[in-house]
Amino acid sequence: MRALARISTGAIERNAARLAGLGAPLCAVVKSNGYGHGAVQAARAAQRGGAAWLAVATAVEAAELRAAGIDGPLLVLGALAPDELRIALEADADVVAWREAFVDGLPASARVHVKLDTGMGRLGTRDAAEGERVAAAAGSRLVGIMTHFATSDDDPAFMHQQLERFVPWADQFGVMRHAANSAGALGEPAARLDLIRCGIALYGMDPFHRDPAEHGLEPALSLVSYVAEVKRARAGESVGYGRRFIAARDTWIGTIPIGYGDGYRRGLTGVGEVLLDGRRVPLAGTVSMDNITVDLGDEPVERGTEAVLIGAGLLAEDMAAKLGTINYEITCGLTARVPREYVP
Ligand SMILES: *Cc1c(COP(=O)(O)O)cnc(C)c1O
Repeated sequence: MRALARISTGAIERNAARLAGLGAPLCAVVKSNGYGHGAVQAARAAQRGGAAWLAVATAVEAAELRAAGIDGPLLVLGALAPDELRIALEADADVVAWREAFVDGLPASARVHVKLDTGMGRLGTRDAAEGERVAAAAGSRLVGIMTHFATSDDDPAFMHQQLERFVPWADQFGVMRHAANSAGALGEPAARLDLIRCGIALYGMDPFHRDPAEHGLEPALSLVSYVAEVKRARAGESVGYGRRFIAARDTWIGTIPIGYGDGYRRGLTGVGEVLLDGRRVPLAGTVSMDNITVDLGDEPVERGTEAVLIGAGLLAEDMAAKLGTINYEITCGLTARVPREYVP
């Protein structure tokens, strides 16, 4: 084993149960390969935990879930080009609409969620009258009315404005209304409405970029590798591309076979940390495509020692902060080269 992502389906199941207990049915968002965790396994675990719905971003993602035998209501959140629409409908997925021409092209068996853009500025119509026309055009195909929050993680006031625009308008249709992502669902009971669409929290990451434990969430993914080589670096000797680490004094250097080709980002050069036998050690030198190097100081470890890159207290949130990004991008960014191992 070179490097692998160990994913606890039990943690996903328990996070789903926690979210499903918030008081509105849970739609488990498993787009982008389940935020890197594996869409099929995440969907199954979420369903065991009580998720009533599943959502993905693309038609192909919907088809992949169905091909794996996953049943139940499934919503494709994204825009659909004509070729993708065919795939989504073949996968028996619900689709999102905000233009009449799109709805007019749908078969009688389609199921439609009309999207109002209340402030995200991305998909959906900003024009309530247009939304009403689209809903009317959908007729008996209308299943839901939805919107999406831009700031539920860091600006509750703007989220409330969006909610105030959405709810009175959505009420007129008498169908399911949904708005909340993970941060909205956890942070604002009034946002939960008839369905909560949770992604990040399902995987035990914190939508507010802090410690997931604050919301009773359990990180599902660990990223592990091992120490493949240990060697002495004498004072003045360098390690890695560009000689960006020069030993200030004699030290031990460990080489761990994981790098940016696996999604361990090069931006962690100089700031990343790794756990070896519970001990935090700093990276030494540049993250390369296939390897990183760590400074072990005066205490070498055995070759073969497990190295934890994410997990056991090293949070994806902390790694994200070091990179100036968000936890979402950390797990989505793990590449196909990293095998996923599933544990209970
Ligand atoms: C991705 C997505 C979600 C889930 O967001 P999280 O912050 O991961 O919970 C919900 N709704 C829509 C429309 C999305 O695109």
